[in-house]
Amino acid sequence: MPQQTDHDVDTSDDPNEPYPAAIGVYCDGCGTDVVNDYIVSDALDREARFEIARAHLRREGWSCTEAGDFCPACKPAEGSAP
Ligand SMILES: [Zn+2]
Repeated sequence: MPQQTDHDVDTSDDPNEPYPAAIGVYCDGCGTDVVNDYIVSDALDREARFEIARAHLRREGWSCTEAGDFCPACKPAEGSAP
């Protein structure tokens, strides 16, 4: 379900202050991409930020592994899924 939110990113003096950032993850199977706002900070590098996004997408049914990122329609079958 698409969600649209408007954020006012306030500029803070604290470099470690968490702030919302748009992070997009695209499916290696069909190419669909999902962009959401995640709370990050400058202390997190690029990979760490993607891990936050992947952790969220896993809860949404995605399969995000070293093999790639796959949406629920493209992820490898696990055998027990209906
Ligand atoms: Zn897909």
